[in-house]
Amino acid sequence: AQERYSSIRDKAAVSACGKRVHLYMNAGLLADLPSLPSSGAEGVGLFRTELQFLIRNKMPRRTELVEVYKRVMDSAGDKPVIFRTLDIGSDKVLPYMKPTDEPNPALGWRAIRVGLDKPGVMRMQIQALLRASEGRPLSVMFPFVAQYEEFTAASAEVDKALAIERKLGHAVPETVTIGTMLETPSLAYAPSKFFDDVAFISIGGNDLKQFFFAADRENERVRRRYDTLNVSFLSFLENIVMRCSDSATPLSFCGEDAGRPIEAVCLAAIGLQRLSMRPASIGPVKSLVMRTDLDGLYDVICEARARGDQSVREDVMKFLR
Ligand code: PEP
Ligand code: MG
Repeated sequence: AQERYSSIRDKAAVSACGKRVHLYMNAGLLADLPSLPSSGAEGVGLFRTELQFLIRNKMPRRTELVEVYKRVMDSAGDKPVIFRTLDIGSDKVLPYMKPTDEPNPALGWRAIRVGLDKPGVMRMQIQALLRASEGRPLSVMFPFVAQYEEFTAASAEVDKALAIERKLGHAVPETVTIGTMLETPSLAYAPSKFFDDVAFISIGGNDLKQFFFAADRENERVRRRYDTLNVSFLSFLENIVMRCSDSATPLSFCGEDAGRPIEAVCLAAIGLQRLSMRPASIGPVKSLVMRTDLDGLYDVICEARARGDQSVREDVMKFLR
């Protein structure tokens, strides 16, 4: 399928109205990395580090992680990679960790909550990331942050680890950039100091949508019940775009919807100019971005919203045809 899009692979994604959209890929395994040059992605917008933990039958050692992270950075070369710290719990359970018995795992002890309550593994992982990126820039992103204080507590772990590395005389990264996922509605309403302090934000649309509509992403009966192009959800996303633009915080979107061409152009139309998706989606999304007048599309979205439509999908489809 990628061959179909090879003619636009090295072209920038610029819309018909002249807006630049940046397309990144999601990854999690070393085997994903060859897709970076072949897809034409501008970097890895989301490296899901939990996959390295999920494919093993015991906890990986720090030295093993350093090797993996080094190889990821080596193969990415000059292209940026955003490493998300361990996102476990809920739908991602480590076979070698004591299972927690929780009535609602999606709302339970997961991701950064585990990282802050039992920091051993996250500390080891942060140390591995620091060691792997010696002399190079490092971007770290925390999953499932719901409030400002979780972000500051997790950032403090990185600062502490960095200080220890320096004291030990180890080489450190050229720069360390710390961002978070935005996948709980609460974070969209965090105080302004959150948006000022965080270096970048990436919207995890899969989780954010599940919590916005209170519809379990794992439950076949409800997961497709609410449209991503529902006006309430788009308005909510647009509010996040505005808060980030007020604080000049770089914002991206890395849920599955970023890789669906119709959804992707709508996200771009409301101001999400950085999208991260599975590599095979880069070509189709870029192709549609290049053919779309995003300003015109935004007008269509606003008109449907003003009319009180539930979803903008029908009008968007008409416009794109
Ligand atoms: C998301 O929630 O949208 C996301 C990108 O993270 P994951 O799918 O790994 O939960
Ligand atoms: Mg998520």
